[in-house]
Amino acid sequence: MAYNKDLETREVQATWDVTTYQYKLDGRGAKVLADGMKEKTIRGIKCPQCGRVYVPGPTYCRVCYIDIDDVVDCSDEGVVMSYCIEMADVRGNPMDEHRVSAMIKFDGADTWFIGTVHGIDPMDVKIGMKVKAIWKDVTEGNLGDIQRFEPV
Ligand SMILES: [Zn+2]
Repeated sequence: MAYNKDLETREVQATWDVTTYQYKLDGRGAKVLADGMKEKTIRGIKCPQCGRVYVPGPTYCRVCYIDIDDVVDCSDEGVVMSYCIEMADVRGNPMDEHRVSAMIKFDGADTWFIGTVHGIDPMDVKIGMKVKAIWKDVTEGNLGDIQRFEPV
């Protein structure tokens, strides 16, 4: 999956009510990821045919349409592929501190993972910047084990 790091960064003022979205995750890939997170490791599932690594992994490759179950470790560092600066909550109430939500592609993965980026002025976040996961001291084996992302 390619991205153009030279793309212009744009600012969009909009309301986005994420509570209207419904997600359905395949249980097995989510469990592989959660079990890895207990060990502070990002685990995905790789397609043996095209080599794509999914985090979290589905049970089939979405390109090749074959069953996949090859568990691989990815880095807990990655690249910001897309982001938005949240200035208000989902009800439109201004937030005291702006928050950066980002889609991050872990090194070794081909899919994107959502997280919040801290430790940097929100206006300085850029597509293509390198970030790393900051883990909770005591992990529990769930998506909350990554507290946040920070610039590398
Ligand atoms: Zn494939």
